[in-house]
Amino acid sequence: MNIVLLGPPGVGKGTVAAVLSHKLPHISTGNMLREAISKGTDLGKQAKGFVDSGKLVPDELVTKMVRERVSQPDCKAGFILDGYPRTSAQARALQEFAAVDAVLDFKAPFKTIVERISGRRTCRKCGATFHVKYSPPKKEGVCDKCGGELYQRSDEKPGIIAERLRVYEGQNKPLIDYYRNEELLSEIDASYNITEIGKIVKQCDAVLKVASRVISS
Ligand code: AMP
Repeated sequence: MNIVLLGPPGVGKGTVAAVLSHKLPHISTGNMLREAISKGTDLGKQAKGFVDSGKLVPDELVTKMVRERVSQPDCKAGFILDGYPRTSAQARALQEFAAVDAVLDFKAPFKTIVERISGRRTCRKCGATFHVKYSPPKKEGVCDKCGGELYQRSDEKPGIIAERLRVYEGQNKPLIDYYRNEELLSEIDASYNITEIGKIVKQCDAVLKVASRVISS
């Protein structure tokens, strides 16, 4: 089953996808782009300016990256896309190389999202994420998993968060309309905090169960 997660940055798509990913691979375009940037690949060099300033990377670059990723053997039984598509042009491009079976649209209040993103800290070494208030590391500034240094991503600072949310609002409506027309869209209430993640996962599981019945019927 091919699943698309929609919703603003910081709404909890990545956290939920990490839970669901024991079934299907989690493909986060944001993570892939950040990895390309830190490795200094050609794609990373082309994407860096856009990512650092909270703007969207051009459609062709991201679509090529996703197309290559979903053609890998581990995606044969399906995948979870997180962060792609972000524009209706990307949604149309995706439809040409993979059929989408379910789209989960994550919703949470603006204030909750800003608080989540601005408190997030990421490990430089293994990429694990923590939150200064809701899931703090045992020792401040140090990753529980590998001992690496925790830092605040440049695009998770207040000014850039506002820009990312503005970009999201601008692109989101046509994308939602596109998937609503395709009758693939289900809303997920993601206003709960991390300690209640089970409530969000439960809603996703219910939608995916119905979708998998539809596929197999
Ligand atoms: P994310 O972690 O998903 O919020 O993505 C971080 C940044 O990566 C975004 O602000 C964009 O600059 C870039 N990015 C990720 N996915 C896409 C996409 N589908 N299209 C264009 N840019 C993207």
